[in-house]
Amino acid sequence: MEQLAIFGGTPVREDRIFYGRQCIEQDDIEAVVETLKGDLITCGPKVEALETQLCQVTGAKYAVVVANGTAALHLAALAAGFGEGDEVIVSSITFAASANCVLYCGAKPMFADIRPDTYNIDPESVRRLITPRTRGIVAVDFTGQAVEHDALREICREHGLVMIEDAAHAIGTKYKGQPIGSIADMTCFSFHPVKTVTGGEGGAITTNDEALYRRLLRVRTHGITRSMDEMAHPTDAKWYNEQVELGYNYRMTDFQAALLLSQLHKLPKFAARRKEIVERYDRAFSQMPELVVQKEIPESDTTRHLYILRLNPDRLKCDRRQFFDAMYAENTCPQVHYLPVYWHSYYEKLGYERGLCPNAEKLYEEIMSIPLYYGLSDEDVEDVIRAVKKVVAYYRA
Ligand SMILES: *Cc1c(COP(=O)(O)O)cnc(C)c1O
Repeated sequence: MEQLAIFGGTPVREDRIFYGRQCIEQDDIEAVVETLKGDLITCGPKVEALETQLCQVTGAKYAVVVANGTAALHLAALAAGFGEGDEVIVSSITFAASANCVLYCGAKPMFADIRPDTYNIDPESVRRLITPRTRGIVAVDFTGQAVEHDALREICREHGLVMIEDAAHAIGTKYKGQPIGSIADMTCFSFHPVKTVTGGEGGAITTNDEALYRRLLRVRTHGITRSMDEMAHPTDAKWYNEQVELGYNYRMTDFQAALLLSQLHKLPKFAARRKEIVERYDRAFSQMPELVVQKEIPESDTTRHLYILRLNPDRLKCDRRQFFDAMYAENTCPQVHYLPVYWHSYYEKLGYERGLCPNAEKLYEEIMSIPLYYGLSDEDVEDVIRAVKKVVAYYRA
């Protein structure tokens, strides 16, 4: 509480600045309302239109829209054929869903360490984890920065692995000029409200592989098919459909799809504003030895979802907790992305031990995400920078 008093000196804003926030405008609202008045409010024309639009944005041949990003990952892992006895290599600094999808299929997540400078999965760490049981990789474009596709593709080719990209942070990002979504075997997106575009909830998988696409469509709806060539007992009877495998109901409604379509049209302006804010933060913080700025690889043209403020522990006489609380007292609401997945007690109970990924664990102790979203005004950005500078000055070693 003492820290709060120290840093509570500036006038308290009623609108605490959160680390992320959706931008819903009048035309977004109208798109939803119009869809609600239509005949089909799920599995209708907006879902199809959204899939077409996602192909356009990502350059992928096929897109399958689903209920949320976690469902996208689950279906991708299922379509990849992961199962009992398989190992799948997963980024260690990510939302738990990136690894949970492997568990859903009965396979075992193997956690790869990150690079200490880009915070993305380290291809060398991936290599060290390969065993005869390895079947795939779930690589996360952390904060929106593209993973090292060239190196990862090489590993996948050598060992016959399926590459799933968790691009929940990365819609709009390009790798060597190619949009994320058209590179990995399957790319999963999330449209949760903190992400760059939102449908309230929502997710999608993109792929260039027709067989994977057909499988994804099927498992999105219970494993039921209407294609005669997929049936064990084919008939062209109009009423007939057949469940040929175990699937789920991971469909998205048409009014969510309408919202997302409207939001996707705004991706260029959302992305541009995020880039502007990142540049301002980078400019302010790169000159401060107390802070470390995330390294950007030249191959990635990044639409940043998160801005990671990283403390340099040698230059500060506080820990992350104290710094975080001080930022909170300065009317921002940071968050920490992420706890190394295997530090969650559930994973601990599965037998994963601390110490597995030293770079990931060190990163976790030193970071917090500060506000980054389209609606942040220049004044808000300056406020955040001022707050960071004030806290740094107080704790400077
Ligand atoms: C948000 C997120 C997800 C899950 O997406 P939901 O739409 O919330 O299910 C998965 N992976 C990462 C890295 C995310 O940030």
